[in-house]
Amino acid sequence: MTDTMLSESLASARRRLADALAAAGRPADAARLLAVSKTKPASLIRQAWELGQREFGENYVQEALEKQAELADLDGIIWHFIGPLQANKTRAVAEHFGWVHSIEREKIARRLNDQRPDTLEPLQVCLQVNVSGEASKSGVSLDELESLAEAVLSLPRLRLRGLMAIPAPAEDMASQREPLGKLRHALETLRQRFPQAPLDTLSMGMSDDLEAAVLEGATLVRLGTAIFGTRENSRH
Ligand SMILES: *Cc1c(COP(=O)(O)O)cnc(C)c1O
Repeated sequence: MTDTMLSESLASARRRLADALAAAGRPADAARLLAVSKTKPASLIRQAWELGQREFGENYVQEALEKQAELADLDGIIWHFIGPLQANKTRAVAEHFGWVHSIEREKIARRLNDQRPDTLEPLQVCLQVNVSGEASKSGVSLDELESLAEAVLSLPRLRLRGLMAIPAPAEDMASQREPLGKLRHALETLRQRFPQAPLDTLSMGMSDDLEAAVLEGATLVRLGTAIFGTRENSRH
């Protein structure tokens, strides 16, 4: 991807988010863009940063650490871990990321809490929820969400910010909105149950369902392909 292509695709992603927010009757700053840079080189992240993008999402710990080392000079960059997280990788994530979106088990949350360095601010976290039932194996079920949230809220080195979902792909707007609406509803329920918690984040919406997600209240949309192009050279 050339510099011009990236600058055009990033501009069009920003326009797309702005249009979706306007169409939903929401303020222009009600949702922000997370640039999902998995499998993409550090040089492309640096270009996006030069174009004003500050938040980046990564799925694979080792790959992310390599890129972070190359980009250590970028002041104010915010790294979000959005991939499946195994227990043996929690220390690296606790030490090198600002956010984790993919918490689905208490054991992982406890490890992140225990391993988060005191020199850093608390780790901002979202719980990944399975809103697609049988169609998805990842994410905590809606039934178990409240007890996981309660456990995470008791961990001082984590700050529970909200919920994340990766719904099963769907073609039309109505079927895209259905699981996203469930996530919104689940967040509203948690807010009522835990009014003191800073639950302000709905991490949902990807390149194929951004408009549906913004209509359902997304505050952080995770765009990969729409910004960086397809991932044909994935090494995963
Ligand atoms: C890859 C990925 C994205 C971005 O997907 P695109 O369809 O390329 O926009 C968003 N969220 C998660 C969790 C991902 O793994």
